[in-house]
Amino acid sequence: MIELKDITKVYKRGEEELSILKSISLTVKDGDFVAIIGPSGSGKSTLMNTIGLLDVPTSGSYKLDGVATEQMSDNALAELRNQKIGFIFQQFNLLPRLSAMENVELPMIYAGIGKKERRERAQEMLTMLGMGQRGHHKPNELSGGQQQRVAIARALAISPSLILADEPTGALDSRTGEEVLELILQLNQQGNTIVLITHDHHIANNAKRVIALRDGVIIDDYRNDAQSGMQQEVSV
Ligand code: ADP
Ligand code: MG
Repeated sequence: MIELKDITKVYKRGEEELSILKSISLTVKDGDFVAIIGPSGSGKSTLMNTIGLLDVPTSGSYKLDGVATEQMSDNALAELRNQKIGFIFQQFNLLPRLSAMENVELPMIYAGIGKKERRERAQEMLTMLGMGQRGHHKPNELSGGQQQRVAIARALAISPSLILADEPTGALDSRTGEEVLELILQLNQQGNTIVLITHDHHIANNAKRVIALRDGVIIDDYRNDAQSGMQQEVSV
C-alpha cells in the first residue's frame, strides 16, 4: 500500500541545508499496524506528513495504493489524500467554532458527499466512538479524551484505507490514552492500515511492526511477535 523509495527531505535555513529525511525506503502492507519511534527532531512527523501527502519530498518516489504521486498536481494530491487518508493528531486539531458533528462532517464535505448522507454518517461514527450524544458540543466543551474520540470519528468518516496518527495519546492522561490505543487496535483488527508515531513504549509494543528513526535514517525495523513477545528483525 505504501511504497517509499529513496525519499529525502531537505530544508534550507539561510545558507545551510538541513537533511531531515535521508534516503528513506519503506514498504507498508495493507492491514499492518506500524509504530514509528525516535527522539524529538528525528524526522518522524516529516515522514508521516510525506506519507500523508501533506508534505512533498525533495527527491525519491512514493506510491500509495499503486498510484505514483511524484508528478501529481497539488489538487490531485489533495484529492487522493481526501479519499484515502484519515489523520489523527496529538492536539486533536478540531476546528473550535464547529460542533463535534460539523467537525466529523468536514472531510466528507471535501469528498463531495451530500448533506443528508454526511449527517447520518457523522452520527454513526460519533455513536461508534461513544460520542453519539455529544454531536452538538463544541470542542472546548469536551474533555481531551472526548475530543480525541471526535477526531478519530472525523478520521474514519471517509472510510480511509490508511490512518495516520501523530502522537495520538501524547496529550492524554494514561488511562484515556489506553482507551484510545484500544480504539486504534480495534480499527486495525477491522482491517485498517495504521501508521502511528509514538513516544510510548507500551503503544509501540502493541503495534505489529516498529520502525525507529534517528537523524532522518531508519535505524531499526522489527516485528512484535504476539506469540512469544519476542522481537523479530525484518529487513528494511
Ligand atoms: P519529529 O517529529 O521526529 O520530532 P520533525 O519531523 O517534526 O521531527 O522535524 C525534524 C527536523 O526538521 C527538526 O529539526 C525540525 O526543526 C525540522 N523541520 C521540520 N519542519 C521544518 C520546516 N518547515 N522548515 C525547516 N525545518 C523544519
Ligand atoms: Mg513530531
